[in-house]
Amino acid sequence: ERFGAELYVLATYCAAIAIRMRLYGDRLDLRIEGIHAVLVVAGSVWFALAASYISALRARLRESKQAIERLASRDALTGTWNRGHIDALLAGELQRKARGAADFCLCLVDVDHFKSINDRYGHLAGDAVLRDVARAMQAELRSIDPLGRFGGEEFLIVLPATTLDAARACADRLLRAVAGVAVCGASPDRVTISIGIAQCTAEETSDSLLSRADAALYRAKHEGRNRIAVGTSKRSCASMRSSM
Ligand code: GH3
Ligand code: MG
Ligand code: MG
Repeated sequence: ERFGAELYVLATYCAAIAIRMRLYGDRLDLRIEGIHAVLVVAGSVWFALAASYISALRARLRESKQAIERLASRDALTGTWNRGHIDALLAGELQRKARGAADFCLCLVDVDHFKSINDRYGHLAGDAVLRDVARAMQAELRSIDPLGRFGGEEFLIVLPATTLDAARACADRLLRAVAGVAVCGASPDRVTISIGIAQCTAEETSDSLLSRADAALYRAKHEGRNRIAVGTSKRSCASMRSSM
């Protein structure tokens, strides 16, 4: 297949010689025609090799581009989206909301007592816990719900077109899924997480939405960890402010 074009060139060149032999047969020097034919074949083989080299280069370039895109958008430890990318996905969701899309929710997830896991089992075991927690959560999420590493042992999940009840049910599933994660694979110590949920019902900024999720997370921690807390809605924030 690679030399198809060269065979075609050679065949058309031979056809051209045959036509010329018919037209001016006795005036043609077959040695010169032979040299021409060899030069045509050599030239077209060179083009075929150059073309295959260029297509190999293009394949390598495509692979490098994919690797760069992955490095730029993924968290190296957990494979979830990195902070920059999950921030951009959240910004995109806020823009869709401003243009009239359905309400969506955020889950801010924090691993409970993670510092003591590091202290007791070591930093590498802590890293493995982060990977396992990310994998357990990813398995529970729809493909349209991006999960990103927000900071050290914190993750952010965007739940597009999701009601508060559905977000609560999703967070419940995440809590149960992570309860199956054991430190060092076999130790009796189970990993737990706390989740703060905030719902975006009106046009707002990522800062205001995140701070409501963060306040809810703080409440979940305060109420004993391994649980979910739901943030105040934007409307009630506004009415709280106006009543002050
Ligand atoms: P809380 O239940 O209140 O969230 O307590 P905590 O111990 O989980 O929270 P704290 O903020 O005190 O500790 C978080 C720890 O996470 C501290 C930091 O050293 C650790 N950490 C952050 N990033 C990484 C990481 O990439 N790998 C590991 N192994 N540890 C990390
Ligand atoms: Mg934390
Ligand atoms: Mg923590």
